[in-house]
Amino acid sequence: GESSSSTNKELKDFLHSVEKNRKEAATSIADFKFNKNRVRVLSKEEAVADDNWALLYAQKLALKFKLSLRVCFCTLPKYMDSTIRQSMFMLRGLEEVNAELKQLDIPFHLLYSNNKEEVAQNVLNLVDDHDVGCVVVDFSPLKIARAWVDDLKEILPKDIPLCEVDAHNIVPCWVASDKLEYGARTIRNKINSKLGEFLTKFPPLIQHPYPVDKHSWSINWEDEAKKFEVDRTVEEITWAQPGYQAGMKTLHEFCEKRLRNFATKRNNPLVNALSNLSPWYHFGQISIQRCILHVNTFKSKYNESVNAFCEESIVRRELADNFCFYNAKYDKIDGAYDWAKKTLNDHKKDKRTYVYSCDELASSKTHDDLWNSAQIQLVKEGKMHGFLRMYWAKKILEWTPSPEEALRIALYLNDRFSIDGRDPNGFVGCMWSICGIHDQGWREREIFGKIRFMNYDGCKRKFDVPAFVARYGGK
Ligand code: FAD
Repeated sequence: GESSSSTNKELKDFLHSVEKNRKEAATSIADFKFNKNRVRVLSKEEAVADDNWALLYAQKLALKFKLSLRVCFCTLPKYMDSTIRQSMFMLRGLEEVNAELKQLDIPFHLLYSNNKEEVAQNVLNLVDDHDVGCVVVDFSPLKIARAWVDDLKEILPKDIPLCEVDAHNIVPCWVASDKLEYGARTIRNKINSKLGEFLTKFPPLIQHPYPVDKHSWSINWEDEAKKFEVDRTVEEITWAQPGYQAGMKTLHEFCEKRLRNFATKRNNPLVNALSNLSPWYHFGQISIQRCILHVNTFKSKYNESVNAFCEESIVRRELADNFCFYNAKYDKIDGAYDWAKKTLNDHKKDKRTYVYSCDELASSKTHDDLWNSAQIQLVKEGKMHGFLRMYWAKKILEWTPSPEEALRIALYLNDRFSIDGRDPNGFVGCMWSICGIHDQGWREREIFGKIRFMNYDGCKRKFDVPAFVARYGGK
C-alpha cells in the first residue's frame, strides 16, 4: 500500500531472497529429507509416513506415488465467536492461497458446511468424488478442530491413511512434550534443545507434475462471503491486510524498524516495538518458522531482541499449544491448578466495589480510563497491546461477580474483537490472567486471592498512562 518506492524495492529484494533461500534449500522436494516426527499417523493402518509439514508432506507423498494433489479448507457459517472481522481476514487470505495453488496445478476446494457436524462428511465426499488415496490434516490443539479429525477418523475407509502434521509449531506439540507442562520454565529447554532438529529450512513446494483431469478453478468469493452468518457490525480492520504478501511485508518492516526495540520496549503500549505478526500467525498465512529463520539473521545486530522474540514466538506460543492439547478444560476455571481454584473459591464472596455487565465492558463504560482506552483499541483496531491484555483481563476478574463469569466474558470479548482471537494463546492469556495458569501464587488479597494482581498505579510506573488515554480517548 502506502510505503515509499525504496521500501517497496527493499521488500521485493527481501521476498526475492526468501524465494532464493527456498530454492537453495533443496533442489527437489522429492529429495528433501523430511523429519518423520512432524507427522502422526492417526489411522490404524500403517501409512507410508516417513516424513513432514502438512502440504509439503502431502506433495512429497503424491510425488512418490505419482498422484495428483488437492488442498481443501473447511468453512462454516460461524466459527466460535467470530465476526465478519475475522471471517473476511481468513477468506481473503484463502483467495491468495487459491491463486498460488492454481499456478502450481494444485486444485483448491473451499468446503462449506452448514454446521460443524457436517465437516467430516464433506471431506469424505471429496475423498469419494476424487478417489483420494491419503488424507493429510493440519494439527490444532483446540477441541472443535480435534473433534473434526476424530469424526473423520471414524468415517474414513480404513484403507485410506489419515496423517496429521503439526505445521504451525516449530517443534511438533507431541514431540516437545508428552505431558501438560507446568510453565515456561519446564518446557523451555525441551523446546530449545530440539530446535537444531526442527528449525530447518523449507523445501520449495513445486509445480505439481501430476495434474487433475478437470477442476473448476474459479471460486465466487463474493458468494462465499455472503454465507457467513456472523455479526457484521464489528468492522474489518485496515492496518493489517490479509495474506502471505502482507504478512511478509510486516515481517520485513518489523526487522528493519521495530526489532531493535523489542527487548527493551515491548511492554510499553506507547512504543511501536511489537512485531504485529499475530493476525497472520493465527490464520496460518505466514509460517512462524519462516519468520524465526529470518529474524535469526539479525542476531549479531540485535541479539537480545532476537532472543526475546524467539522466547515469545516459540516458547510462549508453543507452551499455549501444550496447555490446550493436554488439558481438555483449557477454557474453564476447572482447568486451573488446585491452588488457584482454592484461592479463587476462598475469595468468591469478597465484595466487588465495581461490577460491570458484559455490555458495559464491551462499550468501554467502566470508571477506569486506561481500561476503557485499551478496550477502545481492541474494538477499533482489532488488536490490543500485549502488556495491556494482562491488565485488561485481570480487571475483568475484579469487576465481575465470579471468576467463571470473568473468564467467560474475557474470552468472549477477546474472540469477538481480536483479529488474533480464538487461538490457544487467547485461552492461555485469559487463563493466565484470571486463574494463574503457568504462574505461581502471590501475596493474598481481596477477590484475587493469590492470583497475581495488577493495578493502575503499576501501569503508571511502566508507561505514560495519560498519553495512552489521550490517544484512544477512554473516559
Ligand atoms: P509480539 O510481542 O511481537 O510476539 C510475537 C508472537 O509471539 C505473537 O504473535 C505470539 O504468537 C507470541 N506471543 C507473544 N506474547 C505471547 C504470550 N504472552 N503468550 C503466548 N504467545 C505469545 N495472542 C494471540 O495470538 N491471540 C489471542 O487471542 C491472545 N489473547 C490474549 C489474551 C490475554 C488476556 C493475554 C494476556 C494475552 C493474549 N495473547 C493472545 C498473547 C499476546 O498478548 C499476543 O500474542 C501478542 O500481543 C500479539 O501481538 P504481536 O504479534 O505483535 O506480539
